[in-house]
Amino acid sequence: MATDLRLPTDRIVRPDKDRFLDDENPFEAMMSRFDRAAELLDLEPGLYKVLRHPEKQITISIPVMMDNGEVEVFTGHRVLYNTSRGPAKGGIRFDLHVSLEEVKALAAWMTWKCAVVNLPFGGAKGGVVCDPLTMSAGELERLTRRYTAGIINTLGPDSDVPAPDVNTNERVMAWVMDTYSMRVGHTVTAVVTGKPVEMGGSLGRREATGRGCMIVTKEALKHLGMPINKTTVAVQGFGNVGSVAAQLLKREGCNIVAISDRTGGYYNKNGIDIDAAIQHARTARSLEGFKGGDQITNEDLLTLDVDVLLPAALENVITKKNASKIRAKIICEGANGPTTAGADSILDEKGVFVIPDILANAGGVTVSYFEWVQDRGGYFWTEEVVNDRLTEIMCNSFKEVLRLATQHKVNMRTAAYMVSISRVATVHRLRGIYA
Ligand code: GLU
Repeated sequence: MATDLRLPTDRIVRPDKDRFLDDENPFEAMMSRFDRAAELLDLEPGLYKVLRHPEKQITISIPVMMDNGEVEVFTGHRVLYNTSRGPAKGGIRFDLHVSLEEVKALAAWMTWKCAVVNLPFGGAKGGVVCDPLTMSAGELERLTRRYTAGIINTLGPDSDVPAPDVNTNERVMAWVMDTYSMRVGHTVTAVVTGKPVEMGGSLGRREATGRGCMIVTKEALKHLGMPINKTTVAVQGFGNVGSVAAQLLKREGCNIVAISDRTGGYYNKNGIDIDAAIQHARTARSLEGFKGGDQITNEDLLTLDVDVLLPAALENVITKKNASKIRAKIICEGANGPTTAGADSILDEKGVFVIPDILANAGGVTVSYFEWVQDRGGYFWTEEVVNDRLTEIMCNSFKEVLRLATQHKVNMRTAAYMVSISRVATVHRLRGIYA
């Protein structure tokens, strides 16, 4: 299938004024989970200090000539959190809520995410404070190219490899790749992942995060002895992650009873027609007006009586305020950071089995790794090979985290952090401190 080069519409997330009502500083929230795992691992104080700090933070001003002839100046960040295990890896997001604290947290998350699935990468994240919905294709291209030029010294297949994230897509990655290639004087496909397949992207990359969510949800159901064909699922967020996860879980026999996006949610106890919803979202650019279910709010969706809740939108949606009302038995965190640190213990007390973000949504970066490997080898795999290798990595990682959780009597999140922190720590110990 030819690459859809239209603007990022499926992934556009409108700033939601309620999003930060129960906010916590994202970096501190991430670090509180890190601290718990570090304590259980008895991490030595020096290494603890090193791992609490990002390696490099870049903040740049990005002047862009807008279509109306006026110059706007945007702010962009790129944080390389830790590169001990390999090149920094992580997406670039375009969103009005981007801040350095958030990018720092997301870069640390990428470090643990790559380590939990044992990819030879460190972690990074980038973000530009902007509202892409109000910008033309030309403005977005100029913004992307100037941002790329501003961080060019960190970029490179061996140093820092971006990918799509909130409100960025294959097209944006093509601009990043082209800008970098023009600057170094030759084509470098491996400098970004999540590119169009026609220019070195990997088959299966677009669906990889949603596919990974499906794979680990199936593992969790198996572990809890829940039959998949009796499983009801609610999916929050209907972008690249939520819609694909819903489609694949349905194909596996689950009943997807609720879906939502920024415009609201839909409930149908007999099951939502996911293909029809995807079609609707494609043409209407959102789920608004979808006729396949009763209208509910995003908040209603989170507290539905379902077996699996799959938050696949943004951070901080399951909070201290609503965690006690969650009725799902399994939460599969398709988004990065959908659960606040304050909600963790409430979910534990309720016995909810949480598949943490750094494991649940690692399918995307895993296939990004496959893409980087294919680009560097100049030899491309079939979609079947990509999906089989993804399944193997996701299943093995799930089992490894579960084993540690059982052994230490901790939840899956703490166990996932323990797996990743100990991997990063081991490399630091082996490498020592360069002086
Ligand atoms: N943005 C995605 C994530 O948060 C993918 C990152 C990547 O592929 O480098 O995992």
